[in-house]
Amino acid sequence: MSAGAFGEYAARHIGTSADDQQRMAAAVGVRAGDTVMSTAVPGVIRGLGEAGTAIPQEGVSEAAALAELRELAGRNRVLSPMIGLGYSDTLTPSVIQRNVLENPSWYTAYTPYQPEISQGRLEALLNFQTMVADLAGLPVANASMLDEATAAVEGMLVARRAVRGGSDVFVVDADALPQTKAVLRVRAEAVGVELVEVDLAGGAELPESVFGALVQYPGASGRVWNPQGVIDAVHVAGGQAVVAADLLALTLIASPGSLGADIVVGSSQRFGVPLGFGGPHAGYMVVRQGLERQLPGRLVGVSKDADGQLAYRLALQTREQHIRREKATSNICTAQVLLAVMAAMYAVYHGPDGLRAIAADVQDKTARLRAALVAAGADVVDGAHFDTLRVRVPGRAAEVVAAAHDAGVLLHRADADTVGVSVGEATTEADLAAVARAFGAADAGAASDSPVRGSRETAADRVARTGESIREELRRTEPFLTHPVFTSHRSETAMMRYLKRLADKDYALDRGMIPLGSCTMKLNAATAMASITWPEFGRIHPFAPREDVAGYLELIDQLEGWLADLTGYDAVSLQPNAGSQGELAGLLAIRGYHRSRGDENRDVCLIPSSAHGTNAASAVLAGMRVVVVACDEQGNVDLDDLRAKIAAHAEALSALMITYPSTHGVYEHDVLDITAAVHDAGGQVYIDGANLNALLGHARFGDLGGDVSHLNLHKTFAIPHGGGGPGVGPVAAKAHLAAFLPSHAFAQGEGDTEGIGPVSAAPYGSAGILPISWAYVRMMGLEGLTQATDAAVLAANYVAARLAEHYPVLYAGEEGRVAHECILDLRPLKAETGVSVDDVAKRLIDYGFHAPTMSFPVAGTLMVEPTESEDLAELDRFVDAMIAIRREAERVHAGEWPHDDNPLANAPHTAASALVGEWSHPYSRETGVYPAGVGEAKYWPPVRRIDQAYGDRNLVCACPPIDAFA
Ligand SMILES: *Cc1c(COP(=O)(O)O)cnc(C)c1O
Repeated sequence: MSAGAFGEYAARHIGTSADDQQRMAAAVGVRAGDTVMSTAVPGVIRGLGEAGTAIPQEGVSEAAALAELRELAGRNRVLSPMIGLGYSDTLTPSVIQRNVLENPSWYTAYTPYQPEISQGRLEALLNFQTMVADLAGLPVANASMLDEATAAVEGMLVARRAVRGGSDVFVVDADALPQTKAVLRVRAEAVGVELVEVDLAGGAELPESVFGALVQYPGASGRVWNPQGVIDAVHVAGGQAVVAADLLALTLIASPGSLGADIVVGSSQRFGVPLGFGGPHAGYMVVRQGLERQLPGRLVGVSKDADGQLAYRLALQTREQHIRREKATSNICTAQVLLAVMAAMYAVYHGPDGLRAIAADVQDKTARLRAALVAAGADVVDGAHFDTLRVRVPGRAAEVVAAAHDAGVLLHRADADTVGVSVGEATTEADLAAVARAFGAADAGAASDSPVRGSRETAADRVARTGESIREELRRTEPFLTHPVFTSHRSETAMMRYLKRLADKDYALDRGMIPLGSCTMKLNAATAMASITWPEFGRIHPFAPREDVAGYLELIDQLEGWLADLTGYDAVSLQPNAGSQGELAGLLAIRGYHRSRGDENRDVCLIPSSAHGTNAASAVLAGMRVVVVACDEQGNVDLDDLRAKIAAHAEALSALMITYPSTHGVYEHDVLDITAAVHDAGGQVYIDGANLNALLGHARFGDLGGDVSHLNLHKTFAIPHGGGGPGVGPVAAKAHLAAFLPSHAFAQGEGDTEGIGPVSAAPYGSAGILPISWAYVRMMGLEGLTQATDAAVLAANYVAARLAEHYPVLYAGEEGRVAHECILDLRPLKAETGVSVDDVAKRLIDYGFHAPTMSFPVAGTLMVEPTESEDLAELDRFVDAMIAIRREAERVHAGEWPHDDNPLANAPHTAASALVGEWSHPYSRETGVYPAGVGEAKYWPPVRRIDQAYGDRNLVCACPPIDAFA
């Protein structure tokens, strides 16, 4: 395909040329005059509706897109953010920005489901878990949550499962972060939890019986208080104590675990992760012994490989939604891996002493500011403080905030009489002086009685001095981050090499294709990534005033308009920070709609058996009952069963949730009949849009009968997968549902404060990465996006056609075509030769590939999604490897190689396994490690096949001691 016709970027983004595509179409058997799309997409849905004029037809060049982004960025004003409320001005170490956030080896990786090729990021995540567990003082942390507010919700849900039966009351601290309270309110209502707000620090009584309570520590007002009495009282009332804690404060004050907490949640943003107008940041959760099986999200654990060597992998995976569906512990799938890696590396780089010093510095600055304000007669709310002060200025809060704003500092107007000030690592002396002046005080430093100003106090002295200002009972005495990893990489050289060493262990898109069905691992273009670290996007507080975020609001408005246009919907909310959260938001909109019409009893959600596991889990969290609809032999929704289920639940029907094209990789012909049948019965149609890469530019969900959908910007719209997050899961809906979409009390955009309340902590969720999707759409234009869909569907059909005689393709449409992915059925191979899906997946590693999706949505299969970004040579390399593996399986079958000693059973082969000792296998070393076609693409896995069950039986979820590697 030549540049020019649809902008120069599209030709860079799409891997196959026009000539390639012609050859591929011929191989697929597309007749002259047809295209793969015209034969794959059912005629009834083609041309139903077309994108309008919101989205430009043609893309612009990379240079032009960057120039437009510069212009938008220029309309955001970077002021020193001292608003606090869970978001802190932090300093991202450059070594981490460059070698993690801006490094495709980290940001283009997939979720570590194939642990043998993911040891680097698994180690990084284990560092994260260890850091969180140490600071919180509890043993088992997960590998990240979506943000602090949703982590609090998950904490509430863990508490409810742990208590089981009894009270429906959950208490929230009056001094919790306002957005945490708001998200809790939305989520509690949906699942029948009675949320009761209590002034816990103020000593108010708990209700007699509760299943849990959330305590903010330190409080949102900055108050450092001892929650031990409240925690004890929660236990007496029969509940679990959830503590939302600030990780940096925990370096100085007693851990919640030591005070009796059962569950600790929070955000790791201030560990070096840019504010990004609200995200993405890694939330965290850590639990006491006994609750590990209730833990939501992914959990990294230690196990061993086939040589008995220590190795990492995801633990207790049977908790997750793709297996447990409506019985899952949570709907969270994509989390915040890249940001968790950044936060963990911040702790690795600074070490325990460095973190303590940063915390002491923050506390010292806060204390000096307080002294200056008090000296000038200001009324600072009493009590111990870490980084946040509340100052009473009767009737003058707006005036003080405005004065600070004029001086370049953002403060928080808590109410008409009270101003909040929060100090971060990046807060400067000039900022402190500006704040003091805004309150009418002379100067923070000058008025301060602090001994440090101008003196040469060492960091250790400052830690000691500020520590003394904390009440003795609350002073932290427990050690943390004692594992050598947190003290071994303190020079920049050592840090750079550590990050490189870990990245080298992993397989990401910078090595080769990641043909993951259901995940669209396409190019994450360098130009699209470029702007996210500009301070005009990175250093913006999510609650900054509207006048300072005009660039963001315009970018958001444009992107929403484009997405609405592309999907045939009327309203879009970018707030959900993963697909799972978009699903939940969409289902809550449906629920709200029914209730607004008096249909309180409509609570049944029909979900086909082929659906992604998040669908069922989200329906439960939206207060719905899941009824499964069968699929027929072609993988389509079984229409008879659908009609029967609709009839059986007619009065109670709330929604049907379908994925289009289906998770079986086919375009269902009957989709219009399906959506009509649901509407006829009074139900609403939710179309899961994660497979939009098969439809974009060709058909729109709104025209198929959808009422609401979520999209995954981290799949179709080029946001990188980050090793398992970040994500953005916008929810898009028809006009009648618009009033029930997420909103946020602090939203800056027109009308964005009106809706059902928030589902994420920040008004625009993970706004900091929206420039990536914006740039992608801007550079592709409607024509480029349409071409990308063509190329993606052609690539999937090409792979399916070339592999069909070696591995049967499980499902296809009426014309024998698949959509953007194909399911290869390996069950016949297993029956015939004994070679399993696992063997093939692990052998692909020897051939230099990331395995396709394994055993999802059908056990014993591989699901391949090549995407449009791979070139023909890479597609052929993959197909050739699959065929070569099939031949190897035949040699096992023929008895040439024993079943338990062959290149498949022993895969993957490490360098050590090929070099060390005597080679005793019935095949050559070359066959083992350098099979045909590998060439320069050779990737060496650092470990051999990992024993999953061993690790679950011997659960270890923190950094193992160094001698464990011996
Ligand atoms: C990926 C996916 C989801 C879940 O999205 P997350 O961002 O991982 O929460 C839901 N449905 C389908 C079909 C998907 O492929």
